[in-house]
Amino acid sequence: MRPMQDWHAIAAGVKPRTDAFIDGGFVPAADGRRLPSVDPATGAVLAEVAACGAQDVDRAVAAARRAFPGWAATPPGERKAVLLRLASLVRANADELAVLDSLDAGKLIGDTATVDVPGSAAILQWYAETIDKAYGEIAPTARGDLALVSREPLGVVAAVVPWNYPLEMAVWKIAPALAAGNAVVLKPAEESPLSVLRLAELAAEAGLPDGVLNVVPGEGPVAGKALGLHPDVDVVTFTGSTPVGKLFLRYAGESNMKQVWLECGGKSANVVFADAADLDAVADGVCFGIFTNAGQVCSANSRLLVERPILDELLAKVAERAGRIRLGDPLRSDTTMGPLVSNAQAARVLEYIAVGEREGRTILAGGETGLGPAFVAPAIFEVGPESRLSREEVFGPVLAVQAFDTEDEAVARANDSIYGLAASVWSDSLRRAHRVAAALRAGTVSVNTVDALDVTTPFGGFGQSGFGRDLSPHALDKFTALKTTWVNYR
Ligand code: NAD
Repeated sequence: MRPMQDWHAIAAGVKPRTDAFIDGGFVPAADGRRLPSVDPATGAVLAEVAACGAQDVDRAVAAARRAFPGWAATPPGERKAVLLRLASLVRANADELAVLDSLDAGKLIGDTATVDVPGSAAILQWYAETIDKAYGEIAPTARGDLALVSREPLGVVAAVVPWNYPLEMAVWKIAPALAAGNAVVLKPAEESPLSVLRLAELAAEAGLPDGVLNVVPGEGPVAGKALGLHPDVDVVTFTGSTPVGKLFLRYAGESNMKQVWLECGGKSANVVFADAADLDAVADGVCFGIFTNAGQVCSANSRLLVERPILDELLAKVAERAGRIRLGDPLRSDTTMGPLVSNAQAARVLEYIAVGEREGRTILAGGETGLGPAFVAPAIFEVGPESRLSREEVFGPVLAVQAFDTEDEAVARANDSIYGLAASVWSDSLRRAHRVAAALRAGTVSVNTVDALDVTTPFGGFGQSGFGRDLSPHALDKFTALKTTWVNYR
């Protein structure tokens, strides 16, 4: 990590791209509309970014459709080389990309520079490496018949992504979709379009043919909806809230029955048993699980379930650590929590804090900070299982705590959610850890850690957290269809 003053200097030199990226070049929206992209830490307008409408989405989809056959037919080794070059260019431009995400979304530079950007490069590289290692199958038919089973790219993939990890969420979609031979139209969130516009430019520099990757910034109900309803989009891969995920299912049904893959919200439980040996490690994990990225993480461990005998001791340790969090300028290396993504998001989170104050026992009051309208200090409340704080996704630094008395009660409470994205279990009993992990309905269960995640392991949810998996070889399944070619050679 660079010393703090460097990041401000780098930020001062960054010039955001502000137009849509369609068919290999930057273009304004057809009707000239623009949306301000705001730095939530200061309220400053960073850029006025093209707000794409249905006409722009049409152009981007048409460009992707034209580019698709050529990209799909490009020899695997050549496609791999292009994506490896893109991974290198992401690394070579890491400072700029990290600063763009920090400015645009209020994310800590310590996270964007060491996690988001290097992680995005690593994911691009990992999927690039899969391209020339994907073998087909021969089905065990009778002699005289040869049945080949191959994986075919689907065509035009629309990727619609949120603002909490602007670059990385986009790469989770783009990397496997492109690796599988598809063309992509990406719609970033209104709040955070800047890093992916630069990524598209780097992709062109890496040699990705025109039209294979297009970026259409704009409003969800306009550009996002136009993609969802578009008759020539083959697949939508979406990360965002559960209500908008449901809209994409409707859009598909109302249009061309496109495939829809949804990574949506969560209310992940962190279950701590009294036999967890190291309560300091647990407290560190609890804080990481809920306060990373100011709680704006889909798999955030926003529910803490604690076995009653250790409740007070653990809460004291967690509150002490949370109280030490330094809120402030996300470009300073010594800041440990930045602002939320927008004033509107902060206002939503403050409402939930008011719910906690009304309905629960305050462990840490949190709330307003005086630093600016987008900053919210971490808050912790002990609440009942029916409280909105125990049931709804807050997407901010607010922890809802419940005590439990038995293992069965812990499992029942943890599973009592419409979501099922992630969960954690802390116990030094191997038997208990496995028993509880097996009983939890969540796409990822972390044992004696939180939010375990790697490009090698699938990520996604049960229930209304969505379906389909990002990361790992399984992500490629979403962007391909199995094809049988049957040859009669009798
Ligand atoms: P959001 O659902 O409001 O927006 C996500 C994307 O959908 C944005 O690009 C937005 O412009 C677009 N959109 C909004 N309204 C739309 C509409 N009517 N039609 C079409 N598109 C529309 O979510 P957000 O506020 O950007 O992000 C926070 C949410 O994302 C949280 O619920 C969080 O849990 C979820 N999330 C999930 C994961 C995961 O992998 N499961 C990861 C990160 C974030």
